[in-house]
Amino acid sequence: MKVLVVGGGGREHAMIWKIAQSAQVKKIYCAPGNAGIADLAECVPIDAEDMDQLAAFARRQKIDLTVVGPEGPLSKGIVDCFEKQGLRIFGASQKAAEIESSKTFAKHVMNKYGVPTAEGATFTSLKAAEAYIKKMGAPIVVKADGLAAGKGVIVCATVAQALAALKQILVDKEFGQAGSKVVVEECLVGEEASFLAFTDGKTVLPLPSSQDHKPIFDDDKGPNTGGMGAYSPAPVVDQYLHDRIMNEIMLPTVRGMAAEGRPYKGVLYAGLMINRDQIKVLEFNGRFGDPEAQPLLMRLKNDIVPIMEAIIDERLDQCRLEIDHRATVCVVMASGGYPGKYKKGLPISGLDKVRRIKDVVVFHAGTAFKDNQVVANGGRVLGVTALGDTVAEAISKAYKAVEKIKWQGVQYRKDIGQKALKRYQVKPQVCIVMGSDNDLPVMEGAVGMMKKFGIPFEITVASAHRTPEKAAHLAVSARQRGIKVIIAGAGHAAHLAGALAAQTTLPVIGVPIDSSCLQGLDALLSTVQMPPGIPVATVSIGRSGAKNAGILAAQIIGVADAQVAGLVEVHKKEMAAQVAHKAERLEAYR
Ligand code: AMP
Repeated sequence: MKVLVVGGGGREHAMIWKIAQSAQVKKIYCAPGNAGIADLAECVPIDAEDMDQLAAFARRQKIDLTVVGPEGPLSKGIVDCFEKQGLRIFGASQKAAEIESSKTFAKHVMNKYGVPTAEGATFTSLKAAEAYIKKMGAPIVVKADGLAAGKGVIVCATVAQALAALKQILVDKEFGQAGSKVVVEECLVGEEASFLAFTDGKTVLPLPSSQDHKPIFDDDKGPNTGGMGAYSPAPVVDQYLHDRIMNEIMLPTVRGMAAEGRPYKGVLYAGLMINRDQIKVLEFNGRFGDPEAQPLLMRLKNDIVPIMEAIIDERLDQCRLEIDHRATVCVVMASGGYPGKYKKGLPISGLDKVRRIKDVVVFHAGTAFKDNQVVANGGRVLGVTALGDTVAEAISKAYKAVEKIKWQGVQYRKDIGQKALKRYQVKPQVCIVMGSDNDLPVMEGAVGMMKKFGIPFEITVASAHRTPEKAAHLAVSARQRGIKVIIAGAGHAAHLAGALAAQTTLPVIGVPIDSSCLQGLDALLSTVQMPPGIPVATVSIGRSGAKNAGILAAQIIGVADAQVAGLVEVHKKEMAAQVAHKAERLEAYR
């Protein structure tokens, strides 16, 4: 098979590295490519946005599959152009890629299909936008509608800054046509994460979570860049949030795009802002992220070519992704001065030394050959990517390799992956135990409350009857591990909560689960009727019981933790407001 990859950055190098491992692939071309890509593919000097020349090349060389990396050619319609000529191509059509190339369109789809995003509005008129900003107040975010290489978003701390940003975009046209419309939206707070998935317009296969580092300097200081590093997995996206992201964001968006007559095929990338249990979409991208592609593709164990082919043929339902359980970290090495002005043509040393390091791959972004030597030729130059058993190990391997590579003025962040390490260091305060993994759908009620109140928790399976030693060990070690409350869910003769309570002085809340013909009454009585001296709090059967257990645990922790107590209070007020709202709607019937 002959493959053509369009683009020439770190993302495309990672895609080619992965495609080159396919047994089906005999030859890879890349347009235009870079010095690192040249090791694996024949670089062709055609601009990534010159669709006609690329299609002519694909026809001439009898290319079997073309793969598009960057957003530019997708938004210009390269996929439609190739398909019209009967050429097979992997990527989103022009109408589908609009989810990235028009923020207004993306907002329209999200609002229409109930996908959570920042509240905002689109304007072409300066006056109307100014009035909206004055009404909403600061902080507020002003965005150019179209593609602006990641620079068209201005987060404004004051109304004056927002008004200046509006002028920059709508009047001074700093982003050209991309700024003929502006989106003004609420400023979200939280931790950002990237969620990417393969989709053929019907089936969605998620890749693991990842996180980019946009600002140039450590601790997220300084101006934004294309991305200074990334890692996967991102622990901010735990299993609970992963499932919600799929159900509340990825699936409705893909279904919505199909309903709009713009079936989405390719890689769909959601940039998310996560704040405890709240997930909102910041933006969609219509392709792999750069630098997220590098760590993600290093974790993908499948041959990627059959997946791309299945997407083109709309039979992704027949595929499953196999993901390496290990973690990956990519540290971007950039030219001095980037994201501002920087020098080109500086020779890079040390690349040979890192070639031999196991589980490390150096993906090239802005590199070229000059006098037979690899030189820095762009802002972001290399993405040094390492695989390790843990994020900590991957960080250490990546930086060991980074330290061996040098050129004049090189800069890189020293804190890639540190946010993940911080999260891994947080000690759980609540231990959620269930008798069987079948109980998970019920116990997720408690998980949801932990997320809502920002309480770190651990979750596991232990059975009072089948694994009594494990259950006992959990309870005996809980206090020492920093646990403050135990929530235990079980069905049938539910002895789990009691067995745990017998082994600890921590408060234990039992959740009776409806898993037998007695509909949870058996579990309720087994949980609640404890002998004197071993109390177990029991708050009701099933999912509402699990939710209540979560709230009660938060209230117990809230006795000594004002922040948690405050969040519980907000939750109570929200519930009261919901009841008042429902009452108002019913009273309208009179
Ligand atoms: P975008 O291209 O829309 O992802 O925006 C680029 C960056 O701007 C994001 O990665 C965020 O850091 C920031 N950003 C975008 N929208 C918002 C928002 N509504 N609130 C806060 N920050 C935002």
